[in-house]
Amino acid sequence: MSAIRERTPAIEVCDLHKRYGAVEALRGLDLEVPQGAFFGLLGPNGAGKTTLISVLATLARPSAGRARLLGRDVAAERAAVRRDIGIVFQETALDPALTAREHLDLHARLYHLEDRRRRVAESLALVGLDADADRPVRGFSGGMKRGLEIVRGLLHRPRVLFLDEPTLGLDVAARAAIWRHLRQLHARGDLTIFLTTHSMEEADSLCERIAILDGGRRVAADTPSALKRALGGDVVVLTLARADGADLRLRGVEGVSRVRRETDRDGTTRLQVAVSDGPRRLPALLDAARSFEVLEVTLQRPTLEHVFLHHTGHPFEPAEPR
Ligand code: ATP
Repeated sequence: MSAIRERTPAIEVCDLHKRYGAVEALRGLDLEVPQGAFFGLLGPNGAGKTTLISVLATLARPSAGRARLLGRDVAAERAAVRRDIGIVFQETALDPALTAREHLDLHARLYHLEDRRRRVAESLALVGLDADADRPVRGFSGGMKRGLEIVRGLLHRPRVLFLDEPTLGLDVAARAAIWRHLRQLHARGDLTIFLTTHSMEEADSLCERIAILDGGRRVAADTPSALKRALGGDVVVLTLARADGADLRLRGVEGVSRVRRETDRDGTTRLQVAVSDGPRRLPALLDAARSFEVLEVTLQRPTLEHVFLHHTGHPFEPAEPR
């Protein structure tokens, strides 16, 4: 039984469609998330991310296609699916007059949890809210509220936690604290975390696997490093004092696929050299450029931002030099 369980994906989506009247928010989506994964869903505004979470969390019904959570059909087995999931919405869903402890206690009662007091106390400690547990949340910072919502979503020990833009609007320190909590949760090993975000930094730093949606369809899915690698290499930008013949020399270096030349008004020449495995080729490139007097060199590796732009209609170009 346990071996079968391990093979069952946390989430399986097959040719999923969701229409709101004339708007087709999901258009034949396929997706698979293994159990225990830290998974990130990216996409431009209106791509269908919140819609997908709503369908998976049984809050919206699919128009066509199938979605399964831990092997259960989300449309046909809603009650069972709901017991297995926790959800933290984009908008804060807390009552300002209630304390942190009261919020958790209420949730524990709703789920008929045994051992309520201990679970609530453990949850408060997990996000460092022990000292503030009995204050109304109206006095909480955005980060404290988010922390409380996350542990509330986890109180009934779900196996899949959905987070819709968990750090939206938080300052740098609060965001770092939420990231730390999420990493700790994930390190326990048995929880699948499924988040949506517009922050490439967040996705890159937290998620093991990523899918990009655009217009209700999946346009890419893989690990962050594989997605970056698939963009096809790095760009080395060489600023040279003299450049006659440099393009040709650099084109001859192994791994170079393209050399583009730009000349500034002051006569300085910049060569953008597209090359596979930039760090390894750098010595050979510098050697080839030596006689042209290298004034400056930068190595630009594709980032998740480049990946996102590439798959949503904007090809990877090296950034302007700073
Ligand atoms: P964002 O990044 O802005 O949160 P998103 O990727 O989460 O966007 P969705 O909120 O899922 O996108 O919206 C997908 C499409 O479905 C959009 O065109 C949106 O206007 C539409 N939509 C979403 N919910 C509804 C609804 N309840 N009624 C009608 N249209 C909706």
